[in-house]
Amino acid sequence: MKIIMLGAPGAGKGTQAKQIAKKFSIPHISTGDIFRANIKENTELGKKAKEYMDQGMLVPDSLTLELIMDRFKNADCANGYVLDGFPRTIPQAEALTKALADNGEKIDFAINVEVPDESIVNRMSGRRACLSCGATYHIKYNAPAKENVCDTCSAELVLRDDDKPETVLKRLSVYHEQTQPLIDYYKNENVLREVDGTQDMNKVFDDILAILQ
Ligand code: AMP
Repeated sequence: MKIIMLGAPGAGKGTQAKQIAKKFSIPHISTGDIFRANIKENTELGKKAKEYMDQGMLVPDSLTLELIMDRFKNADCANGYVLDGFPRTIPQAEALTKALADNGEKIDFAINVEVPDESIVNRMSGRRACLSCGATYHIKYNAPAKENVCDTCSAELVLRDDDKPETVLKRLSVYHEQTQPLIDYYKNENVLREVDGTQDMNKVFDDILAILQ
């Protein structure tokens, strides 16, 4: 099964994507996580991506596409995947459709997790991330067992630079301009499904399961 998660930054699509991946035994592919891993390892790709990410801007399509097409070659993608944070622009979506069509494949579902802008800034300021293993938490909605400590690897949790309020506002405007058009794109492809992302995260997951099963 090939699934795309759509929604504004902070809508909770990463949390849902991880649960879907676990349930269906398919990889969770987050371009944001891959960029952050490269930044941590100080690779050339990481250095280039960081310039854009720190400003709340999108990394250029050429760089992003190179990275994701390479990731698809991995054997774990044989039974599908859940994409989180990709595609984020129409050219990225078109490149994905074409790459899949060349192999006689297509996306099965694009799930849009809907959350109004007012809730987003509020949510993101409560978000905490583990820069060591990539786990994400929320101080109110998905708190770690011990304050500021990662449940998985015990590293200290931080507010990511790109989750700071000024960057969030910029990311939201970039989202509306460049990513929201994907909703119509996937509606036209007849694979769009919508879920109410303002609900409790377990309820959001139940709604997603009802779509996928
Ligand atoms: P995320 O963790 O998905 O919110 O991504 C964090 C940041 O990584 C974004 O604000 C972008 O700067 C960059 N990024 C992640 N995925 C993409 C993508 N598909 N295209 C361009 N930039 C991306």
